[in-house]
Amino acid sequence: MRKNEEYGVDWNWHDANGLDRVVNVSGTMTSLGGSVTSARVAEATAAVMPRFVKMHDLQARASETIAKLTGAEAGFLTASASAGITLAIAGCLTGLDPAKVEALPLEPGPDNGVAVQMGHLCEYGAPVAQAVALAGGKLHIVGQSTLTRDYQLEAALEGACAALYVVSHHVVDYGMMPLDRFVEICHAKGVPVIVDAASEYDLAGMLAKGADIAIYSGHKFLSGPTSGIVAGRRDLVRAAYLQNIGIGRGMKIGKESIAGAIAAMQQWLERDHAAVRAEETRALEMWQAACALPGITALPLPDPTDNPLERLRVFVDPVVAGASAAQFAVAFGRLDPPIVVRGHEVEKGYFDLDPCNLTPGQAELVRDALPQVLSTPAEAAKIDQRAALSDTRNGGTQSYLDWLA
Ligand SMILES: *Cc1c(COP(=O)(O)O)cnc(C)c1O
Repeated sequence: MRKNEEYGVDWNWHDANGLDRVVNVSGTMTSLGGSVTSARVAEATAAVMPRFVKMHDLQARASETIAKLTGAEAGFLTASASAGITLAIAGCLTGLDPAKVEALPLEPGPDNGVAVQMGHLCEYGAPVAQAVALAGGKLHIVGQSTLTRDYQLEAALEGACAALYVVSHHVVDYGMMPLDRFVEICHAKGVPVIVDAASEYDLAGMLAKGADIAIYSGHKFLSGPTSGIVAGRRDLVRAAYLQNIGIGRGMKIGKESIAGAIAAMQQWLERDHAAVRAEETRALEMWQAACALPGITALPLPDPTDNPLERLRVFVDPVVAGASAAQFAVAFGRLDPPIVVRGHEVEKGYFDLDPCNLTPGQAELVRDALPQVLSTPAEAAKIDQRAALSDTRNGGTQSYLDWLA
């Protein structure tokens, strides 16, 4: 493998600040700083920093851009998608009554139920159930882990102010009610539907299927600064926005992130999606060729929720390859620079490589690291398999416990 310097990756910032270099082929991860933004987005962020601006006007601009992107009547930006879920539910509880806003989360009123399918109660770095509770919502859990029936949702809507639907690779992918049917049942009972679509590229589809609010992350596929987009029915968006005088205060978004997120949304509307996809495909093909090794089978696979994106799935036969998928995933993370692979499902005998958000030179660096690690399994084989598997479940929390310890 070539020396680090020879790939042309710009590590100046990391080196100057004494922070570890890192190559991210795991997707957009909060633990790695979300996504990398373009110069255009960075400049939009910087341009507003030395100025005052009327924030309601800036949010009204955001609303116009969100409307263009999603087909919504209105929208606003907050700190994150997670904040967006909480604020949207709070808005359903309070409407435009500021006294009710100030009473949250302790006094949400009697009809504070929030219907959610059991198979949608995922964790995205924190439990989605807690985003509901933060608003003062009370979960009305619908169905069982892998099956939801219509009458179960109907029953759960008694005393509910909202229903929450999650579209994500994090949720159970069969036996769940389709969104259009979910909306139909909720609307028949007059209950609005909030969709958490944080990392879905389909910006218009949720509202087109009848959802009242759709929520997206600004820092995932949109490659904006850390932010959350709340889009949908004007009355509900306004009620959610009003939470900024209440529980939303701790979820405040700054002018710089609003300006950057608007630029990121405009960039998304204008960008050459086919060219981006072609560049990602080039990386996948290069990596797949580099994985032609004993015990390794690499296949490009479509995204599980139909985002227009493929990842390379690297299947590992531990007997032939000399180490397991879990052990290799850890070994990639110990390289210099560390390569973080997508290892959520290593217990099934594979890891994935995600080509989004690569910076120049990184695809080649990963290409050369693949045979280096996968064809010399002795180091990886020393990694404790049970500890590696335990770490994929517990590591996220442990890293917080270890901080400054
Ligand atoms: C990432 C994600 C979130 C959280 O998004 P943030 O903007 O980081 O708060 C919520 N729900 C789903 C399904 C996600 O994938």
